[in-house]
This record gives sequence, structure tokens and C-alpha cells, in this order.
Amino acid sequence: MPQDRLDPTILAPALLAGDRRALARAITLVESSRPDHQQKATDLLSLLGKSGRQALRIGLSGTPGVGKSTFIEAFGLMLIAQGKRVAVLAVDPSSARSGGSILGDKTRMELLSRAPNAFIRPSPSQTELGGVAKRTREAVMLCEAAGFDAVLIETVGVGQSETLVAQLSDLFILLLAPAGGDELQGVKRGIMEMADIILVNKADGALRPAAMRTCADYTGALHLLRRRPQDPEGFPKALLVSATEGSGLSEAWAEMQTLWEWRREQGHFARHRGEQTRFWFQEEVRQGLLACLKTPAARNLMETMGQEITAGRLSAHQAARQVLQKLLP
Ligand code: GDP
Repeated sequence: MPQDRLDPTILAPALLAGDRRALARAITLVESSRPDHQQKATDLLSLLGKSGRQALRIGLSGTPGVGKSTFIEAFGLMLIAQGKRVAVLAVDPSSARSGGSILGDKTRMELLSRAPNAFIRPSPSQTELGGVAKRTREAVMLCEAAGFDAVLIETVGVGQSETLVAQLSDLFILLLAPAGGDELQGVKRGIMEMADIILVNKADGALRPAAMRTCADYTGALHLLRRRPQDPEGFPKALLVSATEGSGLSEAWAEMQTLWEWRREQGHFARHRGEQTRFWFQEEVRQGLLACLKTPAARNLMETMGQEITAGRLSAHQAARQVLQKLLP
């Protein structure tokens, strides 16, 4: 009988041994909507249990064109040269909306994808951001169990995907490109508030002076925004990098480590992950309730009730109560 390549009892030890193919298959399982795959994914996750391994989870956001793939490639290769294992996952809000993909279409990170100590996973094509986030969260856990030291979770700076990525990460990095003076308003305040470190990329050649101005502007803006009382002096901060020249990357890594180690020592790190787990619990309940609305019976009921309301036979309030009573026994 041929071996089942998705058998959790075969996948788990291979994954724990760091086998990238096993990791890829395991992620396929958690991404799959097939009931048998979902069962295997659940079995696998419980077999892996608490592997006790912890990676630094780095969320990275930036609008298309700021240099995310160039940065991740250069940064990832630098970490690999230091003997680290690096995984890259993507959360792509475009695939949630249109079925297309901003992150996945081009050939990205060619050098990094060939490095033996790297693992790159394009974003899953899912219909809902909530589903994408759940699967990405499980993929992060799988990468951790497979012994990766750093897991980079990338997203495009549009919409609510940043919030989800921030809730998956230990550190949240915002990548920006140099721009004119009014660009500051282009970044939503909420996204700036999430950032632990802002990296102004393309600080090279003719763009360097503009990058320096942008970096100074954001340094000022970050000071005005807030300081997390639990973080060391000077954070959040803005730094200059050039992904193509490789400059500023080791400094950026040093700052990430400083912040990470500080938070670990102070006990904030464990608390932060605990709060995140709580967020994901609430999110799963929310998603589960929303899923109740999507069954054919629920859709029919909503349609019938909608007609009753427009015909004036039921008030919106009465109809809503009746629907809730039927859906939530
Ligand atoms: P993404 O859409 O955010 O993934 O951006 P890409 O990594 O694809 O980069 C977009 C463009 O910016 C490409 O033409 C890159 O070559 C260029 N780019 C990326 N990083 C740098 C940099 O540090 N300096 C300069 N001058 N160009 C860069």
C-alpha cells in the first residue's frame, strides 16, 4: 500500500526534524478546506503539541513597490549567513477579495527561495481574510515546530490585513519608501501605531536625501504618537535601509533583537503571545458565528425574513430576533 504522504504520524516526526517538504505538506493540510484534510491538520497540530520551539515572528507590511520582496530576500539571506533558518509566509488581502494576488504573482525572492535554510510559502488563495489569518497562524506554528529561527509574515499595506499580521507577530515592521513631504498622511495612523520599527527603504543613490527626510519625519511622528510604556527608551523608531545595497540591514536586525530580548526579559513577550491567543480565540468564535449565516438554510431564512420586512409584515427587530432564535438554539 502506498504511504499516505499527508499522514500526520509520518509528517510530524519529519517536520520536527526540519524537513521542508514535510513542512510544505503540513501547510497544505492546514490550508485545505477538505474535511479529511482538516481532520489530519488537527491531528498533526496536536501531535506536534507544544514543541517548545520559539521563532521570532516578524510581521512586515508595506504598499506594493516599497521593496518588500527585495528587503526580505536581502534580510533573509543575511540571517541565513549568520546560521539562522528563515521562513517567509504571506498574507495577501487581494486574494481574499479578487482571487488575484498582489504578493504571489511575480517571481519573488529567487535567491532566498534557493537557499537550503529558507522556506518560502506564497499566500493561500482563500475567500476570506479571517480564513487566511487562521491558516497563516497555523502555518506559523508549523514553521516554529520545524525549527525555524525567524518567521517573516508579509502583507501588503492595504486594508485590515495589517491588524491580523500584527496579531500573528512578535514585532511589527512597517516598510516605507522615500517620498515627498505630504506622504506622512498616506500612512494610516492605526498602522503607524502598530509599528515597532519603521524602515525607510531605498536609502541609496539619488533617493538617499529624500529617504533621510522621510526617516526624520517619521521619527518625529512616532515620538508624537505614543511610547509603549513597556518598551525600552527610543522605541518605536524609524531607520534607514537599502535592500538593494544591503545597508542598514544588520542595524535593523540589531534593533529587532534588542526589542525582542527586552520584551522577553521583562515578561512582556509571553504576555503578548497570551493576549494574541485570546484575540484568535475570539476571532474563531466570531468566524464560527458568521459561518452559521452561510448555510443554505440560513440564507433561505434571511431571504424569507427580508421579504417579510419589505412587505411590512414584520419589523426588522422582530425578524432579527426570530432569525437569531432559529440559528442559535
Ligand atoms: P514589493 O512590491 O514591496 O515587494 O517591492 P519589490 O521588492 O518588488 O521592489 C519594487 C521595486 O523597488 C523594484 O524595482 C526594486 O528593484 C526596487 N527596490 C527595492 N528595494 C530597493 C532599494 O533598497 N533601493 C532602490 N533604489 N530600489 C529598490
